[in-house]
Amino acid sequence: MFDAEFVSDLIARAHDAFDVLSVRLGGERVYVSKSMLTGVHGCEAQYLTPSPFEWKPSTARGFVAHKAIELHSHWSGDPTPATLVEEAIARLGDEPSRRGGWVAGLNDGELAELRGYAIERLTRFLQDFPPLDLRANPILEATMKWRPTPCVELVGKTDLVIGRPEGRISKRLIIDFKTGYRSHHHRADLQFYALLETLSREVPPRKLATYYLDYAEAEVEDVTEGLLVAALNRTVAAVERHVELTIEGRQPVKRPAPPCRWCPLQPSCEEGREHLALVDGDDGRQGFDDA
Ligand code: SF4
Repeated sequence: MFDAEFVSDLIARAHDAFDVLSVRLGGERVYVSKSMLTGVHGCEAQYLTPSPFEWKPSTARGFVAHKAIELHSHWSGDPTPATLVEEAIARLGDEPSRRGGWVAGLNDGELAELRGYAIERLTRFLQDFPPLDLRANPILEATMKWRPTPCVELVGKTDLVIGRPEGRISKRLIIDFKTGYRSHHHRADLQFYALLETLSREVPPRKLATYYLDYAEAEVEDVTEGLLVAALNRTVAAVERHVELTIEGRQPVKRPAPPCRWCPLQPSCEEGREHLALVDGDDGRQGFDDA
């Protein structure tokens, strides 16, 4: 159980910080999500020139598989992953949303690709997890929002939340499913969700878990006071950077890193091209280790 005074102080600190930043925003609105945090804490030049987001079958498999998992938890009988994914795609295609419109507009080839990706992801989930017990209050794709001022809104969508608080006793577990490699961003994403849950519901979650479907491994972290304070500091710093860059005209700092590979500025960015040449071994030092 978290100390009530600590939670109240954390929320008050967040309100104070975002009140000050709202004045500096001068009426502009900012949505703080996990991708905004990763972006502004990464290369600031890229943050100011984001690539337009487009769904692809490989990136949409997550929300299709989550819909299929949701259907599975209420389905009577023992449906196959293919049946669940087919039903999920049909229902998503009827959704009056951007992603619903995207699903409805897919051609046969794109649908087949999406189906394949989503079935793979769902099958891994069903193999690794016991059926979700509805008494544990599982929520898939739970949306969380907290708006301390009219200019600042914190938003997040968790893959799976299990449990519910009992009074001030934290009992919730937040799980994110990932395909592919581990990244330190994944832990930071969950810490942001823990902060968001604390600010909006006034009871922190108990644990955070990133589950890597390809490796069948989980990284689990206890939620602590230190974790929540660090998450708040990182979030406030992100909004401050956003204000400096977009309102106050500070020059962006370039931070070469793996995202240089798909950055739209890369053709004219010396730092980014040098970085990629270095990691690709094309910097004139090739073969050094073999000498
Ligand atoms: S190429 Fe890399 S360093 Fe250059 S702007 Fe893009 S992300 Fe930043």
